[in-house]
Amino acid sequence: MSRTRVAKMSKLYAPTLKEDPAEAELASHKLMLRAGMIRKVASGLYSYLPLAWRSIHKIEDICRDEMDAIGAQEMLVPILTPAELWEESGRIGAYGPELMRLEDRHDRTFCLGPTHEETFTDLVRNELKSYKQLPVTLYQIQDKFRDELRPRFGLMRGREFIMKDAYSFSATQESLQEVYEDMKGAYARYCERCGLKALPVAADSGEIGGDSSIEYMALADAGEASLVWCDCGFAADDEAASTTVAVSEGPGEGVLQKVETPGLGTIEAVSKFFGFPENGTRKSLALIDGEGKPVVAIVPGDHELNEIKAGKLFGDYHLMTDEELDEFGLHKGFIGPVNLPDGIRLVCDASLKASKSWTCGANEVDYHYTGACPDRDFTVDAWEDLVTVKPGDPCPHCGEPLKGGRGIECGQVFQIGTEKYAAKMGATFADENGREQPFYMGCYGIGISRTLAAIVEQHHDEHGIVWPVSVAPYEVSVIALDKKGEAFEEAARIAEELASEGIDVVFDDRNERPGVKFADNDLMGFPYQVIVGKRGLANGTVEVKDRATGDREDIARESLMSTIA
Ligand code: ATP
Ligand code: MG
Ligand code: MG
Ligand code: MG
Repeated sequence: MSRTRVAKMSKLYAPTLKEDPAEAELASHKLMLRAGMIRKVASGLYSYLPLAWRSIHKIEDICRDEMDAIGAQEMLVPILTPAELWEESGRIGAYGPELMRLEDRHDRTFCLGPTHEETFTDLVRNELKSYKQLPVTLYQIQDKFRDELRPRFGLMRGREFIMKDAYSFSATQESLQEVYEDMKGAYARYCERCGLKALPVAADSGEIGGDSSIEYMALADAGEASLVWCDCGFAADDEAASTTVAVSEGPGEGVLQKVETPGLGTIEAVSKFFGFPENGTRKSLALIDGEGKPVVAIVPGDHELNEIKAGKLFGDYHLMTDEELDEFGLHKGFIGPVNLPDGIRLVCDASLKASKSWTCGANEVDYHYTGACPDRDFTVDAWEDLVTVKPGDPCPHCGEPLKGGRGIECGQVFQIGTEKYAAKMGATFADENGREQPFYMGCYGIGISRTLAAIVEQHHDEHGIVWPVSVAPYEVSVIALDKKGEAFEEAARIAEELASEGIDVVFDDRNERPGVKFADNDLMGFPYQVIVGKRGLANGTVEVKDRATGDREDIARESLMSTIA
C-alpha cells in the first residue's frame, strides 16, 4: 500500500456553486458543475477540474486493469488521422459531418479521430504477418472528437470526450468469438467495479458495422435509450433490430427518398412512423430489390442525406414528394403493409446490411422493443429469433413480467469480421497453409467520461453526489470543525494517519463555518466524512458519517484507523 498525500481543501481548485446552473438539465451535469468538477469551454467541450480528473483516473485504471486482465495491450496512436486512411476504408463519406476535418499547411486533409479502426488496421497490416502471432488485442485511452449534432448534458454527449477503444485481430471467426466473450466479461466487471448497474443489450451495429454487437446500458432515467429487461438476462432496446421510421414535418428530421420504381408488390412488414429520437443520427431504412439495388431510402439526418445525394451510399435518389409518399401509402402515423414490387426487401442501415433481409417491427417510442433471447444467436436474418415486447409483458425467456426504463450507453462491443476494414485496407496475414487472409476484427469502446456522468446519475441525492468508493475523487474527507487550536491540529494528524494507510484523503482545513463545510462535503460526495471537533475529542471520539446512508457514528479516536482503514 502506498502512502498518499493529504490534499487540503483550502487549496483545492473546486469552485462550488450554491444554485443549480440554468444551463444544466440532468443531475450529473448540474452536480458536476455545482461541485466544481467541470466547466464548459464551448458547446460540447468541457474542462475537467481536479476532482473530476481524479475520478477519471480511477475509472481509467479500472478499465486498464480489466483490459490487461484479458491480455489486451495498452498503447497510443495520434488523434490526428490522415484522411487517406479513411478513404481506404470508405468511411470518409459515410461518417458524415460528425467527423471533424482539418487541413495542414500543405493542404493535406486530416480528421480528428472519432474512433480509430483505420489507424490500428494500418498499424498491423504490414507487421502482423502470421497466424502464429494471432490473436492480438490493442487498446488506448484517448480523447475522441465527434461534431455531434446536439452536444448536451455536460460530459454525457460531448464533442471532445475520453474513450477507451480496443481493436482485436484474429485468424478465425472462432478466435474472434473468444476475444469477444472475454471482452463481454471485462465490460461487465468494469461496470460493476465503477459502481454502475448496467445491462448488456443486443444492439444495432450502426456506423461501425458488423454482425454482432452489444451495448452496455447504465440504467438511469436520464438515459437516451429506452429499454426493457428481465432479471433472467433478457434485454432489449428500442433501437436493436427494429427501426423507427420518420417522415419529416420540418427540415432535418427524417426524409424519405426514392428512385422511380415500376409496379408495386407487397411486403408483410409493419412499420409505424414517428420522429427519430433526438440522437438518432444514423438509422437509415431502404427498400432494395432482389439484386440488392435500393429503391427507397429513408434517412434520419442531414448527413446521410448528403451522402446519398452525393451518390456515395447507393445509387441516385430524389426526394419524395407528398404525392409519392401517398402513392406508397407512407405517412406519419401509418401502420400497415407497404406495397412494393415483387422481390423487394426492406433493409435497415442499407449501407451496412444490404445483404441481409430485414423486417421492420411495429415500434413505437417507449412502447415496443425488439430483442433477442440470450440463448439464441442474434442476427437480423432470423425474424423468429426476435421478439417484440413492451414493459409488463411476460419475458419471452422466462415469463416474468418485463421491467422498463432508460439507459445510458457506456460501452459497446462489436464483432466486425473481415470485410469492413481488413479486406478493404488489405490487412492480411498468412494462414496455416500460407494463404493470405484478412484479419477477423473486433472493436470495443468504452466512454470513460460518459461513465463518470452515468455514475453520478446513479449515485446522487438531494444534497449532492454520493460516490462509490472505487471512483470517488477522495475516499475520506476529514472535516475540522475548529479553525485553529489543538482540535484542528488533531484533525490534521488524523488526515495524515489515514493517508499513511494508503487512503485518498482530503482535509477540510478551510476557514469556514461547519455548515458550509458539511454542505460542500455532501455536494462533493466523498464516501466517508470524519468530523473532528473540540467537544468530541474531549470525550475521546470523532464522528464518522457515511455519505450514502447518512448514518453518523461516534468512534473512539484510538479505534478510528482500524474502523476506516
Ligand atoms: P451514442 O449512441 O450515444 O451516440 P455511439 O454508439 O455513437 O454513442 P460508440 O461509437 O459506440 O458511440 O463509442 C463508444 C462509446 O463512447 C459509447 O458507448 C459511449 O459510451 C461513448 N461516446 C460516444 N459518443 C460520445 C459523446 N459524444 N460523448 C461522450 N461519450 C461518447
Ligand atoms: Mg454516436
Ligand atoms: Mg450508440
Ligand atoms: Mg455505440
